[in-house]
Amino acid sequence: MLSGAVARVEGPAEPGAWSCVRSAEGEVLAYGHLSPHSRIRVRLLAFGKEPPASDLIEARIASAVAGRADSALLADTDSVRLVNSEGDALPGLVADRYGDLVVVKLTSAGMAARRDEVASALRRATGAASGFERTDAAAARREGFAVNQGALWGRVPEAPIAICERRRRYLVDFADGQKTGFYLDQRDARDLVESLASGRRVLDLFAYTGGFGVAAGRGGAASVTAVDSSARALELARQNLADNAPDCAVRFESADAFEFVRQRADCFELLVIDPPPLARRRRDVTRAARAHKDVLLFGLRRAAPGAFVLAFCCSHHIGPELFRKIAFGAALDADRSVRVLRTLGPPADHPVSIDHPEGHYLTGLLLQA
Ligand code: SAH
Repeated sequence: MLSGAVARVEGPAEPGAWSCVRSAEGEVLAYGHLSPHSRIRVRLLAFGKEPPASDLIEARIASAVAGRADSALLADTDSVRLVNSEGDALPGLVADRYGDLVVVKLTSAGMAARRDEVASALRRATGAASGFERTDAAAARREGFAVNQGALWGRVPEAPIAICERRRRYLVDFADGQKTGFYLDQRDARDLVESLASGRRVLDLFAYTGGFGVAAGRGGAASVTAVDSSARALELARQNLADNAPDCAVRFESADAFEFVRQRADCFELLVIDPPPLARRRRDVTRAARAHKDVLLFGLRRAAPGAFVLAFCCSHHIGPELFRKIAFGAALDADRSVRVLRTLGPPADHPVSIDHPEGHYLTGLLLQA
């Protein structure tokens, strides 16, 4: 609930306190956690007149974890997102499981105030050996809570740790890597890349630690070129590729990806283009759309006839429809006739609440040029 919708706050306004939301007429509408300093003033957890049960958070965590455990869509991996914030009716909480370790990110004053309750519920529901909290410095600043990176329970292993997803093995830097260390949200797309890669020269643009490059190597790619501006991420990518596809010809380029596709004359039969969020705010959309179009346009110039191009956008401000228009513009300017073979979204462990469409941030387009 945004601050503009709040006329007044009655009673003590402790960060994270349970608050009862009333209509202008005084009718009870919902309950949520108060964030007195944030633009999102209340994180709604329970709708209706009934006050939330005292074990609401614990019960929701248990149900989120149980849902992953018996999901056929999540078979054959030791690493899943256990709690996806609003998508699991737990705004402010993200928890990812990497083998026997749970990595937790708290992004609201309400969840930060319930750190111990959250940790013990996750521990009970998963039986995982250890739990680790990742700092979200931006959220802490916005919400006014103290950052707290470190062990939540158990003996946390040294980073990086090894995970295994559909026979692909990755090292994950859960302590200092991006997000909670790994892009679990690209699992289905990695499966797709593995299934398409055989015999193809593959470009993994914005490669991070080689999530897609490894999938391509496992799928029998003729070569993998991984490009990222972070030399540290590429070092893990190098180790991951050596472990998974020791015979694949690999190249690692620590470079600006936008420049790379502009300047190189190399040719590829499978290109994955997975930039970081380019439109965090609505007012960034025009600039971001241009950047997406540019990188796709120059990517298409590197694409052999019949090549597959898997392009992603991870800003909820740019949805599937707009992203398709961007791809259309890129194809027009590259003078290539491009077909959309598939539209991808987040996988089953990243559910989106029907009440919270902003949770749908990831769009992928599988194109054939
Ligand atoms: N494809 C990856 C995730 C990519 S995240 C995976 O599936 O694991 C975005 C990546 O883009 C980050 O690793 C970041 O270091 C990199 N990055 C950001 N700006 C960049 C730029 N201008 N050029 C190259 N890489 C960039």
